Amino acid sequence: MADGPDRLVTPQRRPDDPVDYALRPKLLSDLIGQDRVKDNLSIQIAAAKRRGEALDHILFYGPPGLGKTTLAHVLANEMGVNIKITAGPVIERAGDLAAILTNLRAGDILFIDEVHRLGRTVEEVLYPAMEDYALDIVIGKGPSARNIRLKLPRFSVIGATTRLALLTAPLRARFGAVYRLDFYDQPAMEAIVERAARMLGVATDPEGVREIARRARGTPRVALRLLKRVRDFAQVRAEGRISEMVARAGLDLMEVDELGLDNLDRQVLRAIIEKYNGGPVGLETIAASISEEADTIMDVVEPYLLQRGFLDRTPRGRVVTRGAYEHLGLPYNGPEQARLL
Ligand code: ADP
Repeated sequence: MADGPDRLVTPQRRPDDPVDYALRPKLLSDLIGQDRVKDNLSIQIAAAKRRGEALDHILFYGPPGLGKTTLAHVLANEMGVNIKITAGPVIERAGDLAAILTNLRAGDILFIDEVHRLGRTVEEVLYPAMEDYALDIVIGKGPSARNIRLKLPRFSVIGATTRLALLTAPLRARFGAVYRLDFYDQPAMEAIVERAARMLGVATDPEGVREIARRARGTPRVALRLLKRVRDFAQVRAEGRISEMVARAGLDLMEVDELGLDNLDRQVLRAIIEKYNGGPVGLETIAASISEEADTIMDVVEPYLLQRGFLDRTPRGRVVTRGAYEHLGLPYNGPEQARLL
């Protein structure tokens, strides 16, 4: 099974994920978890407000679904400014970016998702825009061509990326603050499910909330999706209330296991175990052996398996850990494997 619209636990946005304006936190204080990031941002906000200036350019990085877009909206809200949303692959030509930039007003936020996917010529327009609030344009062609420099209002770029390593050094250097978002811990996940259930008007038991939170891979987007699916299940099978039993039964039916692993995760682990004796094996090889894109595995399968300690990255490739064998109920046969770890 590929990662995509069919995959219930994909951290990436699915077409049927509504943009839930009601559920989306509006203020920093509504945001659950990520305390270090929130503390730093609240200082940046207060300082920018006191000086009457735009926020610094800020970069968020980390796996999908952890709240990068949400944070950008929260920042706009807290600063009382407009936000323009775009994404690296959407801005195809330098002219597209110039059009966006010339429409910004002082203090506005320009949110660029997947900022590592900006084209080179587009990036080159962004450098002076971020650094000097200037737009260099060429008028005319041939010998009569002239360069002119337009002044832009002071604005803030909020960039988001799942792949910090793919960002070019000059672009990265133009962000005044860089924050890494981590997977949420169990108490934070429970609070997120609890809050969303309350806002959706779904009746829950604490054990039901705990179960959904535990299987949501430390990812708010997955938690909200699982909550909605379990709500449907509860309505049809259990008079609407999400108890522990209902949550378990619903999630089992969706083939999301006790720790939030689904078929694709298990397929990756099994492929390494069965075909490569637990590894080490290169990512490309794993991808080819299950007919999946290497990028997909890297973005949406591996981060959670690494975080759970089911997979290790070594210089020679990926290695499945003893914990993963145990989770899958497979015999762990190896001093050989233990030595590699
Ligand atoms: P990203 O941009 O990192 O892919 P989003 O900002 O789109 O993630 O967040 C995904 C979903 O999770 C959104 O529906 C958002 O409302 C919710 N969400 C994210 N972070 C939090 C949080 N800290 N508390 C509550 N809900 C959150």
